[in-house]
This record gives sequence, structure tokens and C-alpha cells, in this order.
Amino acid sequence: MSKMKLGIVGWRGMVGQVLMDRLMSEGDFSHFETSIFSTSQKGTHHPFTLINSNPILLDAYDLNSLKQMDIILTCQGGDYTSKVHRELRSSGFKGYWIDAASTLRMEDKSVIILDPINKHVIESALKNQQKDFIGGNCTVSLMMLALGGLFASDSIEWISSMTYQAASGAGARHMNELLKQMKFVTDDVMKEGDNLSDKILSVEKKVKTLLSDPSFPSENFGHPLAFNLLPWIDSELENGQSKEEWKASVEANKILQTKNPIAIDGTCVRISAMRCHSQALTIKLKKDIPLNEIESMISEHNPWVKLVANKKAETLQYLTPEFTSGNLQIPIGRVRKMNLGPSFINAFTVGDQLLWGAAEPLRRMLHILLEY
Ligand code: NAP
Repeated sequence: MSKMKLGIVGWRGMVGQVLMDRLMSEGDFSHFETSIFSTSQKGTHHPFTLINSNPILLDAYDLNSLKQMDIILTCQGGDYTSKVHRELRSSGFKGYWIDAASTLRMEDKSVIILDPINKHVIESALKNQQKDFIGGNCTVSLMMLALGGLFASDSIEWISSMTYQAASGAGARHMNELLKQMKFVTDDVMKEGDNLSDKILSVEKKVKTLLSDPSFPSENFGHPLAFNLLPWIDSELENGQSKEEWKASVEANKILQTKNPIAIDGTCVRISAMRCHSQALTIKLKKDIPLNEIESMISEHNPWVKLVANKKAETLQYLTPEFTSGNLQIPIGRVRKMNLGPSFINAFTVGDQLLWGAAEPLRRMLHILLEY
């Protein structure tokens, strides 16, 4: 039987690099005949040694080349999706479109893919001839995998989620800028020596001055993220939420196909971690459930969730971006009943937003298509 033709767009970005790495390490390219597309380097060689692959980069805007594919998997971003998807479909493309960008997520014809949570939704969409399969918002997907057991048992009334999101959530150029910002400050203040603790308040004043220096690098974030945090991610909505905050409820309920939507809201904050999104959760359960049952539901739901004991040593070792980076495990800890009442649960979770928050659901969708 001939292999499906897979076209990949956006391999150079953060999500794309992690995806290519996963596809190669899992031997996935052996199942496909692969073409790699580029918006900026068409006609040159791509840097990968892949079996069954055209070594030359194709033009990611050439509808005729795209139309030859059975599957297009893009991590190029929303602008690309907006430019190409509709026109490609109108030109007769009947293949599968798998996408990391948010552009198509809430379209009726799209399915948000997170198969450990909603494989049944994906399978029924395939039976209905749906062709657009879109990865969810990274923070939402990570929260849903961490709390999969509580969603599956329909135990949740509402969730308040306060996020701590890494620079890499905004892409490669933003990560680079965070490093430049850190260097800009430390190169200057550390000229005075290593031991500044006896004059640390005046050093802090100097740092503040450097953050507002006209040559401080902030072209991408628009503000200092180093030595700072930014409590607004994505655009403004009229109801006072940021778009990132809005996504939590609408996407989670679309993933679950809930009849009675679960309210999810909170504040999304960019912090200066390089990679991995964290979130502090207040969960209101529908009823009082003993803590050991809650812990079992959480830890037994899927192979990736890792319940961390609510102890200082374990928390500081395992419940951090440092531990989680590059790791498919999703640690969740600080799980305890809150003083607010017996049905209120506190939790903290961290996940690699480039893996389970972006690349992995897309990669797994390819396998679902192979099995279909
Ligand atoms: P990104 O790192 O900014 O990469 C997107 C594209 O930017 C690349 O494919 C590349 O296209 C171009 N680019 C320009 N300068 C670059 C540079 N210095 N290094 C690498 N690429 C560069 O974006 P991303 O974070 O991968 O996100 C891609 C999509 O996934 C977005 O829609 C995003 O919203 C979504 N998403 C991201 C995350 C995340 O954690 N980052 C999570 C979930 C979903 P050319 O090679 O054609 O120039």
C-alpha cells in the first residue's frame, strides 16, 4: 500500500523543532512520504536526514504543491493559517489539516485534539468526514491532562487558574529576547564585582533604570520580562479578560464536548522561565471527595500525569519548569483541601508546553490517522 503524503510547515519555530525531534526519535517518518515546506527558504535543502523525504524545501504558499499532500501539519502560526487554509480548501484540497495555531480552533468544522482526553470526539469527527484537527492552547491542554481524572469523573464545578507562562510560549524570537534582556542588565551591574549584597538596594535601583533604558531590547515582548513579569498575554477582550484567559473555558469545554459547560477563569501571567508553563489551580468540586480518592483519580488517569506529594522537598524537586523541561511527564502537586471549605481543592501543575502543550497532540494525531 502506498504511504500517505505528509507535508510539514513551520519546522524551524519552537513547536516545529520539538515536533521534528519527536517525529525522528519515534521513527514516525517511516510511515509517510514526507515533504517539508517553508515560507522563507523554498528551493534550498532542509537540514534533516529523513527517510522517504524530498530533501528540497517546497514553497509553503504554493497551493498546487500543498494540494498533493494527504496531510498538512503546520506549526507556522496563525497568520499562515489565515492566509492559506481557506484558499487551499476552496481550491479543492480534501486532505487532513493538522495545526498548532489557534486560528481554526473554535470553527464548527474543527476538532481540538487532545487524545488522552477526547479520543472518542476525534474518532467520531473522522467518521463524520471532518478534516481539520487543531491542537489546543498549551496551558489548557496541560491543565486538562493534569486534571484528567477529575474531568473524567465529572467531579469539577469550576476552576480558577492562575498561570505562570514561560517565554517560549511566545516563540523563538521571544526566548532570544529574554536572554538579551538578562544579558543587558547583568553585563552592566556585574561590572562592579560579584559581591553586591552590601549595596543591593542601590543595585536594584540601577536594574530598574536599565529596564527603562531606550536601548533595552524589547522589540518582541514590548516590555521587560527579565527581572519582571507581565500579567497580560495575547489581545484584550471587551469583557476585561485577555484572549489567553478566554481560551481556558471555551477550549476546555469544546475538547470535552460538555453539555453543561464547566466555568474556568483566572489570570494568565508571562514569567521569565525559558520553557514550561505552570499554573496554580483552585478547584471547586461538585461534592466533598476524600483527598486520597482525589489523588487516585488524578494519578491513575493517564501515563503522563505525575502526582507529587504535598511536601516541601518533593515539590521543590519535581514541581518546577526546571524538572519538567523536555519531559513528557506532567507533574501536579500541592494537592490539598483548602480552608475555603471541604469541596475546594488547591493544586499546582507544570507541563512542557512545547511537548504536551503543542507538538505531542499533533504527532499523535498522525498515528490516529494511520490507524483509521
Ligand atoms: P515561532 O517559534 O515564532 O516560529 C514560527 C515561525 O517563525 C517559524 O516556522 C519560522 O518560519 C519563523 N521564524 C522567524 N524567525 C525565526 C527564528 N529566529 N527561529 C525560528 N523560527 C523563526 O512560533 P512557535 O512558538 O513555534 O508557534 C507556532 C504556532 O504554534 C503558533 O501559532 C503558536 O500560537 C502555536 N503554539 C505555540 C506554543 C508554544 O509554546 N510556543 C504552544 C501551542 C501552540 P520560517 O522558517 O518560514 O521563516
